[in-house]
Amino acid sequence: MSTSLIGSLQTFPHGVHPEEYKELSCNRRIERMPFVELYTLPLSQHIGAPSKVVVKEGQKVRRGEMIAEPGGFVSVGLHSPVDGVVHAIDLFDHPNGQVLPAIQIRTDRFSTQQLQLKPVPPEEMTTAGFIKAVQWSGMVGMGGAAFPAHVKFSIPEGKTCKHLMLNGCECEPFLTCDHRVMVEYAEELIDGTRILARFVKPEKVYIAIEANKPDAITLIREKAAEMDFAIEVVPLEVKYPQGAEKMMISAILGEEVPSGKLPLDVGVLVSNVGTAVAMSQYFRQGLPLIERVITVSGTALKRPSNMLVPIGTPMRDVVDYCGGITVPSPRILLGGPMMGMVQKNLDVPVVKGTSGILALTDHEVRDLDTYSCIRCGRCLDACPLFLNPALLGMLSRKGLWEEMEENHIMDCFECASCSFVCPSGIPLVQSFRVGKAMIRERKAK
Ligand code: SF4
Ligand code: SF4
Repeated sequence: MSTSLIGSLQTFPHGVHPEEYKELSCNRRIERMPFVELYTLPLSQHIGAPSKVVVKEGQKVRRGEMIAEPGGFVSVGLHSPVDGVVHAIDLFDHPNGQVLPAIQIRTDRFSTQQLQLKPVPPEEMTTAGFIKAVQWSGMVGMGGAAFPAHVKFSIPEGKTCKHLMLNGCECEPFLTCDHRVMVEYAEELIDGTRILARFVKPEKVYIAIEANKPDAITLIREKAAEMDFAIEVVPLEVKYPQGAEKMMISAILGEEVPSGKLPLDVGVLVSNVGTAVAMSQYFRQGLPLIERVITVSGTALKRPSNMLVPIGTPMRDVVDYCGGITVPSPRILLGGPMMGMVQKNLDVPVVKGTSGILALTDHEVRDLDTYSCIRCGRCLDACPLFLNPALLGMLSRKGLWEEMEENHIMDCFECASCSFVCPSGIPLVQSFRVGKAMIRERKAK
C-alpha cells in the first residue's frame, strides 16, 4: 500500500464514500443525560476477562467508586456511575444479544451526585504504575472495540512506539461524538495525549482528522501550537474506512502493516481521541470511566443529539430523552451503519463501547434482493486490504474454510465496504463472519 494524494489530502488506496448524514448532529453541543432510576453494569464491557464483583447486594456506593476489579491482565475495573445502592447482582440482557452477569445500581434520589474524587498525578509514576492506574480506571478504547487501553499502552520488550497517532477520523456515517469531543474537549485531548506520550515516548505525535471536521482541525491545531511538544494535526480525505488503524497508518506514513501483524510491529500506537480525553479526566480529576459521549441519531429519531451518558443507562431512556422514535418500525443500530450491530431490544444499557444509537428508516436500510455474482469487480476495488471478496464469498457459500484462510480471510476486519458496493446485494461480510467463526472453531478443536 502507498499513500495517495487526492487534492492535497492524504488517504489510503481503495475504500468507499457512503452518504455521511453527519449534518443531523454535528453542530449539536454535547448534552448531559439526566440521572435515571436504575443502572445496569455488565461485568463484560471490554475485550478480555470479565471484571470481578467487589460489592454486595444492598451495599451503598458512591459515584465513581469501584464495584468490580480487573479479572486478569486483559480486563479492567468497573465503577458506579451514581451515588446509590447495589440493587442486584444477576444475569441481565447485554447489548451484544447475550444474557450476562451485571451489577444493577439503584440511584439515591436524594443525592446531589457530586463527585468526591482526587487527581492521580502521573508525574511521579513509573510506567508500570501508569499501566496499572489506567487498568483500574476502567479505561477502554473509546472508538467502539472496547479493547482495554492499558494493554494497548503496554509496549512489549523489543518494540518501540515511534509514532503515536490519535484517531479523530470518525469515518462511519451519522456518528459525530468524536467530532464534538474534539471541539468541546480540545484541551483535555491535548493534555491526555501529552500524558500518554510521557510513558510511550514516541518520536512524533499525530492527530488524524477527516477533512469534514474543519472546526476541529483548526481548534486542535491552535491548542497544539501552544504546547511544548510537537503534535502534527493531519487532515485526511473523507473516505470509509479511514478510521481503521491500518488505513490511517497507510494514509499518514504510506506504510503497510503486514498481514497478521499489529500497528506496533511497524512502530505505531493508535488511540482514539475520546480515550485521550478520558485519560486527562482520570489523571487530573480522578474521574474513572463512568460516562461517555455517544451520538444518538438517525432519520427516525426526533432530536438527533450528542449525549454525555452515564455507563449503564438504559438505551430506551436515552432515546426517549432525544424525543423518541418517529416511525412505527425503525431499524435500530449500535455504532455506525457500516460496522454497527442491529439491536432489537432497547432495554439494554449503554456500555463503554457504545459510540452511537441510530434509529433508521427503510430509506437508509434497504433489504436488497440477492442475485448471482456478475463478476463486476467492484468489491475488489472497494476492499482496503486488497482481498478478493467475490472469491471469499463463493468459498464461504461452499463451506471451503481452508481455502478461505489461504485467501487471507482472517485479515478481513469486516468493514463491509465490499457488501456496500455489491450490485447483486450479496451479503459478503455476513458470509465472512461465518467463515471466520468456522476457522476459529476448527483451530480451537
Ligand atoms: S469486509 Fe473484509 S473483505 Fe470486505 S472490504 Fe472490508 S476488509 Fe475487505
Ligand atoms: S461486487 Fe458483488 S457482483 Fe461484483 S464481483 Fe463483487 S461479489 Fe460479484
